[in-house]
Amino acid sequence: MSVRASAAGIRERLKLVQENISRALERSGRRDRPRVLVATKYYEPEQISALREAGVRLVGENRAQDLIRKQELFGDAFEWHFIGHLQRRKAKLVVPRVSLIHSVDSVRLVEELARRAPEGGTDVLVQVNVSGEESKYGVSPGEVERLLEAAAASGKVRVRGFMTLAPLVEDPEDVRYVFAQLREIRDRLRGSWRPHFDLSELSMGMSNDYPVAVEEGATLVRVGRTLIEEDGSARRQDGS
Ligand SMILES: *Cc1c(COP(=O)(O)O)cnc(C)c1O
Repeated sequence: MSVRASAAGIRERLKLVQENISRALERSGRRDRPRVLVATKYYEPEQISALREAGVRLVGENRAQDLIRKQELFGDAFEWHFIGHLQRRKAKLVVPRVSLIHSVDSVRLVEELARRAPEGGTDVLVQVNVSGEESKYGVSPGEVERLLEAAAASGKVRVRGFMTLAPLVEDPEDVRYVFAQLREIRDRLRGSWRPHFDLSELSMGMSNDYPVAVEEGATLVRVGRTLIEEDGSARRQDGS
């Protein structure tokens, strides 16, 4: 991964991402704009400085130790989310440091988060393994409600919506069904769960597939490589 990434270069690529999002919104007739989260797991500290200079405000980390290390350097410069697999024993480190955990994937983790949550509770997304790939974390679609029940019973863990990781494919059209299914899960559960949870958030789409995810209703897209890579992956993406 290139360490060379000027704020100007990142700003240019970010502009391209925003333009691609605008076109995806137009194609799908949506008006609400998704937030762009920058996944910083590949970023060196100097690249994170450049992100800030380029106007990025929301970042996501995958590992508790990296989150702690980067927050020591950049603390208040960003809003921080946690997007990686979260081990229960790391929950107490992560909860006080982030405004949203995208990757809640077991009842036991919900219970641990409830124990570690501050008075006002903590915000999470349930990660759903829509594609059913063995290598992916996340609950199966059929298990989602068990987690919602555990969260509601805890009184401390607020589920704001859902997150998914699509399989890596050459053509993002091949994973459109993954994003569409996550939206369908959300829409199906939204009515009956409204008294407890708003369930409005859909965290889906990464560098190679975010325009398709936006067309299918993403409210949070998580991009990493496309802002720092030199290989032209930050190209204009027109969808199909
Ligand atoms: C790394 C990562 C991303 C960003 O992936 P890119 O391909 O670099 O855009 C998004 N979400 C999660 C959970 C990640 O780990």
